[in-house]
Amino acid sequence: MTGELNQPITGFDLWHLEVPVVSRRDHGVGTVADVCETIVLRLTSEGGAEGFGEAAAWAVFTGSPEASYAALDRYLRPLVLGQPAGHIGRFMADAERAVAHCTEAKAALETALLDLCGRIVGVPVWALLGGKCRDTIPLSCSLADPDFDADLRLVDRLRADGVNIVKLKTGVKDHRFDMMRLERLRSDHPDLCVRVDYNQGLGPEDAEARLRDVARLAPDFIEQPVRADQYALMARLRHAVEVPLLADESVFGPEDMLRAASEGICDGVAVKIMKAGGLRRAQRVAEIAAAAGLTAYGGDMFETGLAHMAGAQMIAATPAIKLGCEFYQARYYLQEDILETPFPVSDGAVVVPDGPGLGVVPAPDALERFARRSPAREMA
Ligand SMILES: [Mg+2]
Repeated sequence: MTGELNQPITGFDLWHLEVPVVSRRDHGVGTVADVCETIVLRLTSEGGAEGFGEAAAWAVFTGSPEASYAALDRYLRPLVLGQPAGHIGRFMADAERAVAHCTEAKAALETALLDLCGRIVGVPVWALLGGKCRDTIPLSCSLADPDFDADLRLVDRLRADGVNIVKLKTGVKDHRFDMMRLERLRSDHPDLCVRVDYNQGLGPEDAEARLRDVARLAPDFIEQPVRADQYALMARLRHAVEVPLLADESVFGPEDMLRAASEGICDGVAVKIMKAGGLRRAQRVAEIAAAAGLTAYGGDMFETGLAHMAGAQMIAATPAIKLGCEFYQARYYLQEDILETPFPVSDGAVVVPDGPGLGVVPAPDALERFARRSPAREMA
């Protein structure tokens, strides 16, 4: 059966989607409202098997959806078309050389290749990434609605669904708003795990004083309080505040993780396939963190259930990611997900599927309905 991995890739199709969201969300680094923009890639093999991947780009964080689309369309397509489906290692090495950055496009390519090969040989993506270490992944949901009453209603819904981890997005409005929300969550839900994420929202002049206030309320951790490139300040804050400090925007790939560990900027890291440039590079980020004695959770960008599932498959095969995942958008933020079946969440945890490939597929009608660009429209 593995001989079938030599069948050539014959189809490479792209969709630029605008998927409506339920509300506005404010983050230290920027705001999302109305729609989540994302790119979907479909690879087809000569035998008719298909593999899907998603490039979830956020312009203020990783890069733009237009850049992801162009990277896939112009620079990554020629690397794989006509080539044997199973040569993933070579494709991803070539992708690093073919176009700089564009990590979301590379994540989409690797996801689609793994999905395709998993379907050809009949195994799940987690089996191609080293094998399963967990069946479920605890789910965390972020709170970033400018209307805090709406977030409190969301927390009630989350708790009813068994979700016991939330992450409060801070550093957008003033410090009093952040402290009020944190105190309210603590008093209304004393047993809830609460994490705090500034998304680079603080300046060097007030970061330490604000973090000391927040630390009094003992969140699980505080994430990325200051700008991504301020490594020395991150290291100073880490020692000034009792609560663990996590790096997100400061650490994209394994190379950043090595530097972050050696400069002591964090106690843990947000591992994201969109930052790392693929599932296996994301695994490497987590493994370097673990080797340095640091912890990790599985984060995401603004994405659909398709990219969530790529992340879930990666975490299912990565023991070093111990703090759960944030794949909540498909269920709690998009008005409607693009997957044919609901993104699998049960009792507050993502359930890792055992079916071939990713174990999920996008619904063709959803791809067309949400498309700003699609193969059908390019033909028209
Ligand atoms: Mg973050």
